[in-house]
Amino acid sequence: MGPGGPVCSRLVAGFWRLRKWDYSTEVLDRFVRSCIDHGVTTMDHADIYGDYTCEEHFGRVIGLEPSLRQSMEIVTKCGIMLQNSHTRPGITHQHYNTGADCIISSVDRSLAMLQTDYLDVLLIHRPDTLMNADETAEAFQTLARDGKVKYFGVSNFTNTQTSLLQSRLPFPLITNQIECSVFKPEPMYDGILDYCQQHRINPMAWSPLGGGQLFNEHDDRATALRDVLSSVGREAGGFGPEQVALAWLLHHPSAIFPVLGTGKTDRIASASASVEISLSREQWYRIWSASTGKPVP
Ligand code: NAP
Repeated sequence: MGPGGPVCSRLVAGFWRLRKWDYSTEVLDRFVRSCIDHGVTTMDHADIYGDYTCEEHFGRVIGLEPSLRQSMEIVTKCGIMLQNSHTRPGITHQHYNTGADCIISSVDRSLAMLQTDYLDVLLIHRPDTLMNADETAEAFQTLARDGKVKYFGVSNFTNTQTSLLQSRLPFPLITNQIECSVFKPEPMYDGILDYCQQHRINPMAWSPLGGGQLFNEHDDRATALRDVLSSVGREAGGFGPEQVALAWLLHHPSAIFPVLGTGKTDRIASASASVEISLSREQWYRIWSASTGKPVP
Protein backbone atom coordinates (compact mmCIF):
# COMPACT_ATOMS: atom_id res chain seq x y z
CA MET A 1 0.00 0.00 0.00
CA GLY A 2 1.75 3.13 -1.26
CA PRO A 3 5.49 3.31 -2.05
CA GLY A 4 7.36 1.93 0.96
CA GLY A 5 4.11 1.12 2.75
CA PRO A 6 2.90 -2.19 4.17
CA VAL A 7 2.10 -5.21 2.04
CA CYS A 8 -1.67 -5.52 2.38
CA SER A 9 -4.11 -7.80 0.61
CA ARG A 10 -6.01 -6.11 -2.20
CA LEU A 11 -9.27 -7.13 -0.52
CA VAL A 12 -9.50 -6.38 3.19
CA ALA A 13 -11.77 -8.06 5.76
CA GLY A 14 -13.75 -5.57 7.87
CA PHE A 15 -14.94 -6.36 11.39
CA TRP A 16 -17.40 -3.54 12.07
CA ARG A 17 -20.31 -5.99 12.07
CA LEU A 18 -18.56 -8.66 14.12
CA ARG A 19 -20.75 -8.27 17.19
CA LYS A 20 -23.88 -8.79 15.07
CA TRP A 21 -22.48 -12.02 13.66
CA ASP A 22 -22.57 -13.40 17.20
CA TYR A 23 -19.70 -15.83 16.52
CA SER A 24 -17.99 -17.89 19.20
CA THR A 25 -14.19 -17.57 19.29
CA GLU A 26 -13.94 -20.95 17.52
CA VAL A 27 -16.27 -19.89 14.67
CA LEU A 28 -14.49 -16.54 14.36
CA ASP A 29 -11.17 -18.41 14.26
CA ARG A 30 -12.46 -20.48 11.31
CA PHE A 31 -13.69 -17.31 9.56
CA VAL A 32 -10.36 -15.50 10.00
CA ARG A 33 -8.39 -18.54 8.76
CA SER A 34 -10.70 -18.82 5.77
CA CYS A 35 -10.07 -15.15 4.92
CA ILE A 36 -6.32 -15.79 5.07
CA ASP A 37 -6.69 -18.94 2.95
CA HIS A 38 -8.47 -16.86 0.30
CA GLY A 39 -5.69 -14.27 0.30
CA VAL A 40 -7.63 -11.72 2.39
CA THR A 41 -4.91 -11.18 4.98
CA THR A 42 -5.54 -7.57 5.99
CA MET A 43 -8.04 -7.14 8.86
CA ASP A 44 -9.80 -3.81 9.40
CA HIS A 45 -10.85 -2.79 12.91
CA ALA A 46 -11.61 0.28 15.00
CA ASP A 47 -11.45 0.78 18.74
CA ILE A 48 -15.19 1.59 18.80
CA TYR A 49 -16.51 -1.35 16.76
CA GLY A 50 -19.20 -3.27 18.64
CA ASP A 51 -19.20 -0.64 21.37
CA TYR A 52 -15.48 -1.26 22.01
CA THR A 53 -15.85 -5.07 22.02
CA CYS A 54 -14.81 -6.28 18.54
CA GLU A 55 -11.04 -5.88 18.94
CA GLU A 56 -11.16 -7.95 22.12
CA HIS A 57 -13.20 -10.69 20.46
CA PHE A 58 -10.76 -10.79 17.51
CA GLY A 59 -7.82 -10.78 19.93
CA ARG A 60 -9.09 -14.02 21.48
CA VAL A 61 -8.52 -15.67 18.09
CA ILE A 62 -4.89 -14.51 18.12
CA GLY A 63 -4.70 -15.70 21.73
CA LEU A 64 -5.63 -19.24 20.61
CA GLU A 65 -2.55 -19.37 18.37
CA PRO A 66 -0.30 -16.28 18.62
CA SER A 67 1.69 -17.27 15.49
CA LEU A 68 -1.45 -16.50 13.45
CA ARG A 69 -0.56 -12.82 13.92
CA GLN A 70 2.31 -13.22 11.44
CA SER A 71 -0.17 -14.26 8.71
CA MET A 72 -2.16 -11.04 8.79
CA GLU A 73 -1.90 -7.27 8.77
CA ILE A 74 -4.02 -5.39 11.32
CA VAL A 75 -5.47 -1.96 10.61
CA THR A 76 -7.29 -0.15 13.40
CA LYS A 77 -8.63 3.33 14.03
CA CYS A 78 -8.96 5.83 16.84
CA GLY A 79 -10.33 9.28 17.56
CA ILE A 80 -14.10 8.80 17.93
CA MET A 81 -15.42 9.15 21.46
CA LEU A 82 -18.69 7.21 21.49
CA GLN A 83 -21.55 8.58 23.52
CA ASN A 84 -23.70 6.34 25.72
CA SER A 85 -21.26 3.45 25.45
CA HIS A 86 -22.04 0.54 27.78
CA THR A 87 -18.41 -0.57 27.72
CA ARG A 88 -16.88 2.88 28.33
CA PRO A 89 -19.57 5.02 29.94
CA GLY A 90 -19.29 8.69 30.79
CA ILE A 91 -19.45 10.41 27.42
CA THR A 92 -22.78 12.14 26.97
CA HIS A 93 -22.02 13.94 23.72
CA GLN A 94 -20.30 12.18 20.83
CA HIS A 95 -17.09 13.94 19.84
CA TYR A 96 -13.66 13.46 18.31
CA ASN A 97 -10.31 13.57 20.03
CA THR A 98 -7.04 13.51 18.10
CA GLY A 99 -4.97 14.81 21.01
CA ALA A 100 -1.70 12.94 21.64
CA ASP A 101 -2.77 11.38 24.97
CA CYS A 102 -6.00 10.10 23.48
CA ILE A 103 -4.31 8.57 20.41
CA ILE A 104 -1.59 6.90 22.46
CA SER A 105 -3.96 5.49 25.08
CA SER A 106 -6.31 4.24 22.36
CA VAL A 107 -3.41 2.41 20.68
CA ASP A 108 -2.30 0.88 23.99
CA ARG A 109 -5.83 -0.39 24.54
CA SER A 110 -6.11 -1.73 20.96
CA LEU A 111 -2.80 -3.60 21.35
CA ALA A 112 -4.00 -5.20 24.59
CA MET A 113 -7.44 -6.08 23.18
CA LEU A 114 -6.02 -7.50 19.95
CA GLN A 115 -3.36 -9.49 21.86
CA THR A 116 -0.56 -8.11 19.71
CA ASP A 117 2.45 -5.90 20.32
CA TYR A 118 2.21 -3.92 17.07
CA LEU A 119 -0.36 -2.52 14.67
CA ASP A 120 0.42 -2.56 10.98
CA VAL A 121 -1.66 0.56 10.29
CA LEU A 122 -3.34 3.16 12.50
CA LEU A 123 -5.96 5.51 11.04
CA ILE A 124 -7.59 8.62 12.45
CA HIS A 125 -11.20 7.45 12.10
CA ARG A 126 -12.87 10.74 11.22
CA PRO A 127 -11.70 14.33 10.76
CA ASP A 128 -11.54 16.25 14.03
CA THR A 129 -12.16 19.98 13.55
CA LEU A 130 -10.04 20.56 16.66
CA MET A 131 -7.12 18.48 15.36
CA ASN A 132 -3.82 20.19 16.11
CA ALA A 133 -1.73 18.72 13.31
CA ASP A 134 1.56 19.24 15.19
CA GLU A 135 0.27 17.30 18.17
CA THR A 136 -1.31 14.47 16.15
CA ALA A 137 1.86 14.12 14.07
CA GLU A 138 3.97 14.05 17.25
CA ALA A 139 1.81 11.21 18.62
CA PHE A 140 2.26 9.27 15.36
CA GLN A 141 6.04 9.70 15.57
CA THR A 142 6.09 8.56 19.21
CA LEU A 143 4.09 5.44 18.33
CA ALA A 144 6.39 4.72 15.37
CA ARG A 145 9.53 5.21 17.53
CA ASP A 146 8.13 2.89 20.20
CA GLY A 147 7.45 0.19 17.60
CA LYS A 148 3.75 0.14 18.42
CA VAL A 149 2.53 1.20 14.96
CA LYS A 150 4.28 0.62 11.63
CA TYR A 151 2.27 2.86 9.27
CA PHE A 152 -0.31 5.63 9.55
CA GLY A 153 -3.25 6.92 7.57
CA VAL A 154 -6.56 8.72 7.82
CA SER A 155 -10.20 7.94 7.19
CA ASN A 156 -13.03 10.09 5.83
CA PHE A 157 -10.59 13.00 5.44
CA THR A 158 -10.88 15.73 2.82
CA ASN A 159 -7.80 16.43 0.71
CA THR A 160 -6.92 19.55 2.68
CA GLN A 161 -7.22 17.71 6.01
CA THR A 162 -4.94 14.95 4.69
CA SER A 163 -2.49 17.49 3.31
CA LEU A 164 -2.41 19.39 6.62
CA LEU A 165 -1.51 16.31 8.65
CA GLN A 166 0.96 15.15 6.00
CA SER A 167 2.73 18.53 6.14
CA ARG A 168 3.80 17.81 9.75
CA LEU A 169 5.04 14.24 9.21
CA PRO A 170 8.46 12.95 8.15
CA PHE A 171 6.86 9.82 6.62
CA PRO A 172 3.95 9.41 4.18
CA LEU A 173 0.36 8.77 5.21
CA ILE A 174 -0.37 5.54 3.40
CA THR A 175 -4.14 5.57 3.00
CA ASN A 176 -7.40 7.47 3.28
CA GLN A 177 -10.20 5.01 4.08
CA ILE A 178 -13.34 6.45 2.48
CA GLU A 179 -16.83 5.34 1.58
CA CYS A 180 -16.79 4.40 -2.10
CA SER A 181 -18.90 2.03 -4.17
CA VAL A 182 -21.34 1.96 -7.06
CA PHE A 183 -23.74 3.50 -4.53
CA LYS A 184 -21.22 6.15 -3.50
CA PRO A 185 -19.19 7.11 -6.57
CA GLU A 186 -18.55 10.73 -5.45
CA PRO A 187 -14.86 10.19 -4.53
CA MET A 188 -14.32 9.38 -8.22
CA TYR A 189 -15.19 12.96 -9.21
CA ASP A 190 -14.96 15.14 -6.08
CA GLY A 191 -11.15 15.14 -6.13
CA ILE A 192 -10.51 12.60 -3.34
CA LEU A 193 -9.26 9.83 -5.63
CA ASP A 194 -7.37 12.32 -7.82
CA TYR A 195 -5.50 13.48 -4.73
CA CYS A 196 -4.78 9.88 -3.73
CA GLN A 197 -3.43 9.07 -7.16
CA GLN A 198 -1.38 12.27 -7.28
CA HIS A 199 0.25 11.52 -3.92
CA ARG A 200 0.42 7.73 -4.45
CA ILE A 201 -1.85 7.13 -1.47
CA ASN A 202 -3.83 3.93 -1.92
CA PRO A 203 -7.40 4.54 -0.79
CA MET A 204 -9.35 1.93 1.11
CA ALA A 205 -13.09 1.76 0.25
CA TRP A 206 -15.51 1.06 3.06
CA SER A 207 -19.01 -0.31 2.37
CA PRO A 208 -17.87 -1.43 -1.11
CA LEU A 209 -21.25 -3.12 -1.67
CA GLY A 210 -23.14 -0.13 -0.32
CA GLY A 211 -23.40 -1.77 3.10
CA GLY A 212 -25.72 -4.42 1.58
CA GLN A 213 -27.81 -1.98 -0.53
CA LEU A 214 -26.80 -3.96 -3.59
CA PHE A 215 -28.94 -6.80 -2.29
CA ASN A 216 -31.72 -5.21 -0.28
CA GLU A 217 -32.46 -1.86 -1.95
CA HIS A 218 -35.21 -1.89 -4.57
CA ASP A 219 -35.44 1.65 -5.89
CA ASP A 220 -34.85 2.47 -9.58
CA ARG A 221 -31.15 3.16 -9.14
CA ALA A 222 -30.43 -0.08 -7.26
CA THR A 223 -32.44 -2.06 -9.82
CA ALA A 224 -30.58 -0.42 -12.72
CA LEU A 225 -27.25 -1.10 -11.00
CA ARG A 226 -28.05 -4.77 -10.41
CA ASP A 227 -29.11 -5.14 -14.06
CA VAL A 228 -25.94 -3.63 -15.49
CA LEU A 229 -23.64 -5.41 -13.00
CA SER A 230 -25.32 -8.74 -13.77
CA SER A 231 -25.10 -8.18 -17.50
CA VAL A 232 -21.39 -7.20 -17.32
CA GLY A 233 -20.80 -10.22 -15.05
CA ARG A 234 -22.25 -12.55 -17.69
CA GLU A 235 -20.10 -10.93 -20.40
CA ALA A 236 -16.99 -11.24 -18.21
CA GLY A 237 -17.43 -15.01 -17.92
CA GLY A 238 -20.13 -15.75 -15.37
CA PHE A 239 -19.51 -13.46 -12.41
CA GLY A 240 -22.15 -12.20 -9.96
CA PRO A 241 -23.16 -8.53 -9.57
CA GLU A 242 -21.33 -8.21 -6.23
CA GLN A 243 -18.11 -9.48 -7.81
CA VAL A 244 -18.43 -6.97 -10.65
CA ALA A 245 -19.15 -4.15 -8.16
CA LEU A 246 -15.83 -4.94 -6.46
CA ALA A 247 -14.01 -5.26 -9.81
CA TRP A 248 -15.33 -1.78 -10.69
CA LEU A 249 -13.51 -0.37 -7.66
CA LEU A 250 -10.39 -2.48 -8.23
CA HIS A 251 -10.19 -1.17 -11.79
CA HIS A 252 -9.76 2.46 -10.70
CA PRO A 253 -6.17 3.69 -11.28
CA SER A 254 -5.77 4.96 -7.70
CA ALA A 255 -5.56 1.23 -6.72
CA ILE A 256 -8.45 1.06 -4.28
CA PHE A 257 -8.39 -1.56 -1.51
CA PRO A 258 -12.07 -2.51 -0.87
CA VAL A 259 -12.91 -3.37 2.75
CA LEU A 260 -15.41 -6.25 2.71
CA GLY A 261 -18.10 -6.35 5.37
CA THR A 262 -19.40 -9.89 5.06
CA GLY A 263 -19.14 -12.41 7.87
CA LYS A 264 -19.69 -15.37 5.54
CA THR A 265 -16.78 -17.48 4.33
CA ASP A 266 -18.44 -18.37 1.01
CA ARG A 267 -18.88 -14.64 0.27
CA ILE A 268 -15.21 -13.99 1.08
CA ALA A 269 -14.31 -16.76 -1.39
CA SER A 270 -16.58 -15.30 -4.04
CA ALA A 271 -15.26 -11.76 -3.46
CA SER A 272 -11.68 -12.94 -3.79
CA ALA A 273 -12.43 -14.06 -7.38
CA SER A 274 -13.31 -10.46 -8.31
CA VAL A 275 -9.62 -9.64 -8.69
CA GLU A 276 -9.65 -11.86 -11.80
CA ILE A 277 -12.33 -9.84 -13.62
CA SER A 278 -11.07 -7.52 -16.31
CA LEU A 279 -13.45 -4.78 -17.42
CA SER A 280 -13.29 -2.89 -20.69
CA ARG A 281 -13.57 0.90 -20.51
CA GLU A 282 -16.99 0.59 -22.13
CA GLN A 283 -18.19 -1.84 -19.43
CA TRP A 284 -16.69 0.36 -16.68
CA TYR A 285 -18.51 3.44 -17.97
CA ARG A 286 -21.79 1.52 -18.37
CA ILE A 287 -21.60 0.87 -14.63
CA TRP A 288 -20.59 4.53 -14.04
CA SER A 289 -23.75 5.67 -15.85
CA ALA A 290 -25.97 3.41 -13.74
CA SER A 291 -24.14 4.53 -10.61
CA THR A 292 -24.40 8.26 -11.26
CA GLY A 293 -27.77 8.07 -13.04
CA LYS A 294 -26.29 10.08 -15.91
CA PRO A 295 -25.24 9.30 -19.44
CA VAL A 296 -21.54 9.79 -20.11
CA PRO A 297 -21.41 13.42 -21.33
P1 NAP B 1 -20.32 -4.03 2.59
O1 NAP B 1 -19.52 -5.22 2.11
O2 NAP B 1 -20.67 -2.99 1.60
O3 NAP B 1 -21.66 -4.53 3.26
C1 NAP B 1 -21.71 -5.67 4.07
C2 NAP B 1 -23.15 -6.10 4.20
O4 NAP B 1 -23.59 -6.63 2.95
C3 NAP B 1 -23.31 -7.16 5.26
O5 NAP B 1 -24.54 -6.95 5.92
C4 NAP B 1 -23.34 -8.45 4.43
O6 NAP B 1 -24.09 -9.46 5.07
C5 NAP B 1 -24.02 -7.98 3.17
N1 NAP B 1 -23.59 -8.80 2.02
C6 NAP B 1 -22.35 -8.94 1.53
N2 NAP B 1 -22.35 -9.80 0.47
C7 NAP B 1 -23.62 -10.19 0.32
C8 NAP B 1 -24.26 -11.06 -0.61
N3 NAP B 1 -23.57 -11.69 -1.57
N4 NAP B 1 -25.60 -11.24 -0.50
C9 NAP B 1 -26.31 -10.61 0.48
N5 NAP B 1 -25.75 -9.76 1.39
C10 NAP B 1 -24.42 -9.57 1.32
O7 NAP B 1 -19.44 -3.39 3.74
P2 NAP B 1 -19.75 -2.76 5.21
O8 NAP B 1 -19.98 -3.89 6.15
O9 NAP B 1 -20.76 -1.70 5.14
O10 NAP B 1 -18.34 -2.10 5.50
C11 NAP B 1 -17.15 -2.91 5.38
C12 NAP B 1 -16.11 -2.54 6.38
O11 NAP B 1 -15.70 -1.19 6.18
C13 NAP B 1 -16.54 -2.57 7.86
O12 NAP B 1 -16.52 -3.87 8.41
C14 NAP B 1 -15.47 -1.70 8.48
O13 NAP B 1 -14.30 -2.46 8.67
C15 NAP B 1 -15.24 -0.65 7.40
N6 NAP B 1 -15.96 0.61 7.67
C16 NAP B 1 -15.23 1.74 7.88
C17 NAP B 1 -15.86 2.95 8.11
C18 NAP B 1 -15.02 4.19 8.34
O14 NAP B 1 -15.58 5.23 8.72
N7 NAP B 1 -13.72 4.12 8.13
C19 NAP B 1 -17.26 3.05 8.12
C20 NAP B 1 -17.99 1.88 7.88
C21 NAP B 1 -17.33 0.67 7.64
P3 NAP B 1 -23.41 -10.91 5.40
O15 NAP B 1 -22.49 -10.72 6.55
O16 NAP B 1 -24.63 -11.73 5.73
O17 NAP B 1 -22.73 -11.38 4.16
